[in-house]
Amino acid sequence: MNQVYDVVIVGSGLSGLYCALNLDSNLNILIVSKGQLDENNTYLAQGGISTAKNDEDLDSYIQDTLNAGQHKNDISAVTTLAKESMENITLLEKLGVPFDRIDGNLSFTKEGAHSINRIVHVKDETGKYLWKTLIDCTKEKSNITIMDNTYLADIIYRDNTCYGGIIFNKGKQVNVYSKFIVLATGGIGGIFNDSTSQRILIGDAITLALKHNIKVKDLEYIQFHPTGLYDNDYYGRRFLISEAVRGEGGILLNEHGKRFVNELLPRDIVTNAIREEIRKSKVPYVFLDISFLPKYFILKRFPMIYEKCLQVGIDISKDPMLVIPSQHYHMGGVMVDLDSKSSMHRLYVIGEAACTGIHGKNRLASNSLLEGLVFSKRGADSINSSFQSITIKKVPAAQINQTPNELSKYNKQLLKKELQRRSSDLYDELFDNR
Ligand SMILES: Cc1cc2nc3c(=O)[nH]c(=O)nc-3n(C[C@H](O)[C@H](O)[C@H](O)COP(=O)(O)OP(=O)(O)OC[C@H]3O[C@@H](n4cnc5c(N)ncnc54)[C@H](O)[C@@H]3O)c2cc1C
Repeated sequence: MNQVYDVVIVGSGLSGLYCALNLDSNLNILIVSKGQLDENNTYLAQGGISTAKNDEDLDSYIQDTLNAGQHKNDISAVTTLAKESMENITLLEKLGVPFDRIDGNLSFTKEGAHSINRIVHVKDETGKYLWKTLIDCTKEKSNITIMDNTYLADIIYRDNTCYGGIIFNKGKQVNVYSKFIVLATGGIGGIFNDSTSQRILIGDAITLALKHNIKVKDLEYIQFHPTGLYDNDYYGRRFLISEAVRGEGGILLNEHGKRFVNELLPRDIVTNAIREEIRKSKVPYVFLDISFLPKYFILKRFPMIYEKCLQVGIDISKDPMLVIPSQHYHMGGVMVDLDSKSSMHRLYVIGEAACTGIHGKNRLASNSLLEGLVFSKRGADSINSSFQSITIKKVPAAQINQTPNELSKYNKQLLKKELQRRSSDLYDELFDNR
């Protein structure tokens, strides 16, 4: 079966939805999502979204991003991110995202390696509120069709130009032809044993790129978050204790009740310090304490974390949490330019699946949602300015003989091997080998 759209967007997280909302309303758009619509990492984001607060903050924000990324970042991408940050926050508020405000002004919080408070948030559930606003706005648009439980298995291309995608819906292959394809397929956490990510996110854009000679970048730069909640009964996704907890004064303690690291250093440094404590003590976790903060503040600022910890028997207003580092974010991805174009014509990649070069070796806290906003809008602007000159071409599509499950299993192994080839630190035990 064949279908035709102007633009096909793969992924219903923040990047895919925000791109769709910024595309020209004359365009006929399809959004597909391989799981439930809300089964994405955007929904899970807690801490918030970074932004340069004003022009005076630009240099300092850029420097913080470069310092966290160990200066392996792309400076023009970082500058673009900072300069276009506040206009996107304003646009989100206009769409209806209810950012926390104090006395009418945006409430800015702080996270690790930021030199000042510059993170906007909605309580400790920023991602949920953000995603709900975007999906509601998307559903109101008559030019946008959304399909859940629909899997992109491959792209349709010839001579380094993308003409569409091969999707599976209700077990059937459908070839969708379009002027542009936008991959917003998120991160790679699902290929790891221990990750804060949704399990279904396994780097599908990257494996497509590896198979079809599309350029990738920095694949070996993988972020482990210092503070996943340690839980004896752990299976599946590890619950994240947001960096904002340390931003609001939370301290890390070892088994002897001693602080061992400055909690607000970049994530890779704090993660390594915790790993070293775990290695020395042979206790599989360290402690994160905010019990000295007023209970009313904890309940107001971290209601979700409070509830989740209570479920595993910890009242964080009285006792410390048990925490352990977990895979959290992928800095690398499919290489794109400042307009989110990949090395294949008519194929855009946005959000965590892309590598704009913003993050360098290590992402600064809360820079990911902002990257998704700024660069999916830039991708949409680029499509808006060029779609009139493009025609849809129905080149033959391959017949896929594997089921989505078989293909996913194969893709996970392919990506694992590529990551291991690029980094000697990635041992077999870190991966989900099922
Ligand atoms: C627990 C947690 C907390 C976080 N907190 C923050 C934070 O406070 N601030 C911040 O900036 N960042 C945070 N991050 C990172 C941030 O949430 C993500 O990087 C960001 O949301 C990624 O958005 P995205 O649109 O690229 O992908 P996602 O939101 O993950 O969406 C990916 C989409 O792709 C779809 N998809 C994937 N493959 C296919 C396929 N083959 N076919 C069809 N559909 C497919 C999925 O179904 C899904 O809809 C956090 C991450 C986690 C895990």
